[in-house]
Amino acid sequence: MHYLDHAATSPPTREVLEAVWPYLVQVTANPASVHTPGQQAREGLERARATAAAAIGCRPGEVVFTSGGTESDGLAVLGIAPAVVAARGRDRHLVTTAVEHSAVLEPARELERRGWRVDVVGVDGEGRVDVAALAAVVTERTALVSVMHANNEVGTVQPLAEVSQLCARRGVALHVDAVQSAGVLDLRALWSLGSAAGGVAAVSVSAHKLGGLRGSGLLAVRSGTPLEPVALGGGQERGRRSGTVDVASAVGLATALSAAAARRPHEVVRLEALRGRLVAGVLAAGEEAGVSVQLTGAAPGPGRLPGHASFVLPGLSGEVVLAELDLAGVACSSGSACSADSDDASHVLVAMGLDGGPAGAARTSVRATLGWSSTDADVDALLSALPTALARARL
Ligand code: PLP
Repeated sequence: MHYLDHAATSPPTREVLEAVWPYLVQVTANPASVHTPGQQAREGLERARATAAAAIGCRPGEVVFTSGGTESDGLAVLGIAPAVVAARGRDRHLVTTAVEHSAVLEPARELERRGWRVDVVGVDGEGRVDVAALAAVVTERTALVSVMHANNEVGTVQPLAEVSQLCARRGVALHVDAVQSAGVLDLRALWSLGSAAGGVAAVSVSAHKLGGLRGSGLLAVRSGTPLEPVALGGGQERGRRSGTVDVASAVGLATALSAAAARRPHEVVRLEALRGRLVAGVLAAGEEAGVSVQLTGAAPGPGRLPGHASFVLPGLSGEVVLAELDLAGVACSSGSACSADSDDASHVLVAMGLDGGPAGAARTSVRATLGWSSTDADVDALLSALPTALARARL
């Protein structure tokens, strides 16, 4: 099978599996236990924390290990925002964007149910947040702003320097969902956008998007940022996230983060070259078949994730294209794996202005995303299977 769905998940890398193995078979005690095996587990955990912190540019004490991107986003929105209200007397006001992952949007809706004012700011036709609209709603009284680093469905990178500056000027904490970007964009540069005065204050990372294990992630929380725990219990992670920490997963995440940082300059160039060939080939196949194939999201370049390609196929069934590709041994997706079993049009594409009606373009998306294991052969397989898939998918 040719796997072109790294935005949904990437397979674990060999270096991650090798780093994790000792923590699955030898060092297996609870890191909170005081005996020697417990201390060994604790050492592994704290080494992982320091390694992850170095990749992000934060302090080890600012890393909270979680069960993944969803938990990290939930902890940021439901943990930081109410704590800021309590500690700093801010209004119950959250600002986010229309293209966030449901891991942010659902907690935002939960705050709304609790009586919060939630402003959801729109995006342009490429999925980039409207900074002027953001500036119009973020005030000195706002509790939290949450804007993703890069979008999972269309790969667009958000103008976070501007967003963070805006938040800093108003003394507001900014949470950034960096789940899609952590393997390929510079997290240290992202973290350096914030300070104690405001701007980037919390960053969500998920291990399985960059070659770590599924069910593992972290939330980096700048010290001084108020945080009420969401999971209550034994007080692990300095009271910020209770529950016995999975040391093996934390080691895997730290290994994946530092390997990705070391590989990044070369990997970005490699992925961009593969993606360039993929996009050109898909657009040419559309032209050849006489069907309209449109790239969605930002143009390839610094404004887009390097391994990310997404299209809409107006007049065709995206579902049939995906099924035909699957039959030909090529795994692509329709956009968000998390909403793949829902009949709704993509909220991201609709926010970008695409037609979300029953036969609208927003229901015809096909996403091909590359990662560490992707090769030329994967792109070739997609391009050779595509003409038949397009021919069979006409509505
Ligand atoms: N945020 C974004 C942007 C994502 O793409 C995803 C997963 O697809 C998540 C959050 C959720 O991460 P996890 O699968 O680790 O819970």
